[in-house]
Amino acid sequence: MKLVTRGQLGWPASAAPSQPTAKGVKVHYLGSPASTKLATDHAECLALWKDIRRSHLANKAENYSDVAYNYAACPHGFLLEGRGLRRRTGANGNQALNQGHYAIVGLVGSSGLTEPPDLMLSAIRDGIDLLRKNGAGAEVKGHRDGYATACPGGPLYAWVQKGAPRPTTTKEEKPVAELSKKAVQEAVWEAPVAAPDTAPDRKTRPTWWAASYLRAIYGQVATLQRTVTAQTAAITALAGQVGKGADTATVVAAVQQAIRDAVIKVDVDINSKES
Ligand SMILES: [Zn+2]
Ligand SMILES: [Zn+2]
Repeated sequence: MKLVTRGQLGWPASAAPSQPTAKGVKVHYLGSPASTKLATDHAECLALWKDIRRSHLANKAENYSDVAYNYAACPHGFLLEGRGLRRRTGANGNQALNQGHYAIVGLVGSSGLTEPPDLMLSAIRDGIDLLRKNGAGAEVKGHRDGYATACPGGPLYAWVQKGAPRPTTTKEEKPVAELSKKAVQEAVWEAPVAAPDTAPDRKTRPTWWAASYLRAIYGQVATLQRTVTAQTAAITALAGQVGKGADTATVVAAVQQAIRDAVIKVDVDINSKES
């Protein structure tokens, strides 16, 4: 999942009302013309998502507390955070419908970009799965289910009616070898995860970004190895002072081997926790 958080968008925490559970998720589209530039330029997606929030906050008739949707999904496979988890949407038409389902909008419109690319469907699916792990039931519906609207448009609604399956072919995806380092980092390290068992300070820091977690773990190993190196030097010096009767080289070799075994065991422990 390639999640873009509110923090990354420069937004404060959502002020939307709490909604800990719902029957499921409703899928939306923009309901207005969508620029075809969205398909080729991810910066357009982020700018549009910010525009949508601005326009919702400016909508005095609806009196929105935040962008109306829980998430948006862009043509490049990014899930853009809106109200996020466990918040009531304002997009489904009325209060009862808003309490019934969370809301995800695919960034396709009534003209221009109208066909959701597979990467967008994958991102909507990511959002549905994420919401299900956090209080949403199994239903996947369209805005038009139970409300008089064309939303989410023909192509998205056809996909919803099939049960919102995760696409198996994503033509836009390149083989990993062709991806830039930045793209790989975005794909793998875009979202924080629950602190792994081996993460330092996991009690005070419940979520970790993969990059900072790896840095912390490698930092610990490096510190340990520096400690072992210092201890080895100390033991070597000590062994040198043992009387002429002792076999200094044998003592040092035995101690060094014991230390190497200990270091290897640390590596194995870390790897086994990671896998
Ligand atoms: Zn809608
Ligand atoms: Zn995008």
